[in-house]
Amino acid sequence: MNQPISTSHPVLVTGATGYVAGWLVKELLEAGVTVNAAVRDPGNAAKLRHLREIADRSPGTLRFFEADLLKPGSYAAAMEDCRLVFHTASPFTTRVRNPQRELIDPALKGTRNVLETAAANAAVDRVVVTSSCAAIYTDAIDCQTAPGGTLNEEIWNTTASLSYQPYSYSKTLAEREAWRIADGQNRFRLVAVNPSLVIGPALNPDPTSESFNIVRQMGNGTMRLGAPKLGIGAVDVRDLARAHVAAGFAPHAQGRYIVSGHNTNILELGKTLVEKFGDAYPVPRKSVPKPMVWLLGPLMSGISRRFVTNNVDVKWRADNSRSKRDLAMTYRPLKMSMEDMFQQMIDTGAFGK
Ligand code: NAP
Repeated sequence: MNQPISTSHPVLVTGATGYVAGWLVKELLEAGVTVNAAVRDPGNAAKLRHLREIADRSPGTLRFFEADLLKPGSYAAAMEDCRLVFHTASPFTTRVRNPQRELIDPALKGTRNVLETAAANAAVDRVVVTSSCAAIYTDAIDCQTAPGGTLNEEIWNTTASLSYQPYSYSKTLAEREAWRIADGQNRFRLVAVNPSLVIGPALNPDPTSESFNIVRQMGNGTMRLGAPKLGIGAVDVRDLARAHVAAGFAPHAQGRYIVSGHNTNILELGKTLVEKFGDAYPVPRKSVPKPMVWLLGPLMSGISRRFVTNNVDVKWRADNSRSKRDLAMTYRPLKMSMEDMFQQMIDTGAFGK
């Protein structure tokens, strides 16, 4: 990424402990930026160690601030003097009991909290929100009604709800709220980054992002008999960090950006692991027939039949050309991302070996 990075002002990163944010903080510190890292618990040394270690090896400076998405005003101190805010914090999990409390409230109220603080801060002139392709679509079948069968940045998710794919609903509500607030003020420019499924190694120890739950199933035997051809997009976490940096610093960056390297499916992701890991791990090699997933999915992995119908054996396609044009994005091969991620999961005992 050749984007010149300004080091004149500190940059706020919300959710700095997260999987996606870790690589972004690294890029910024290596470029010499002072990073104001907003975290829930600055006293949790184990959770922050990886960031401190990166800072120790980098020309930039790292400062921690305590903030919570659900505490109004709690990002104000971390935002002081910042011209640029990266808002990445938002829960990414599909295992929730109370989707309103665990997903919607932190995503929506948190976005309102961060962006209203930015709108009241005279220094901030750009906010980059980590949204998601989940704010564009719910099911792979939605691609079929998109122009040319391909998702683009004009499209909004209209089918997720509190009871169906609530994570996607949380991201849709949060990004809509971000644009509502941005459109009602004239201090900062909003740029939304909309990644597909993020893959690749983590910098944070014990990553809890849902990305790892999916890949864990490829190594722990869950997908021994095969994987569904469930249409999704995928992007490497290191490429996504570069996209954020460009969204933050490129003078012409504006609007939404689909950041997705590959139109793919779960089986194809799993098959990238066969060559290197297939002898030692029960990685998926063939597809599980849709009727079987339809029958057993709800019992074995809690996915609904509606989800199976709308996603398994359905092609997913998104147009990443805006990201290539405006953010100078290039995307590394799927196999490289998956191998690096899987190797790290082996090294950290994620498969119990
Ligand atoms: P992650 O590792 O779980 O990171 C989530 C971050 O949000 C953590 O830093 C977490 O802080 C923070 N957070 C959650 N609830 C919070 C609260 N109430 N107050 C303050 N901070 C809170 O997940 P990720 O994959 O990096 O996700 C980062 C962003 O990327 C999210 O906006 C997600 O929707 C988006 N995204 C991810 C993917 C993907 O495939 N991973 C795809 C598209 C978009 P704690 O460490 O304190 O829990």
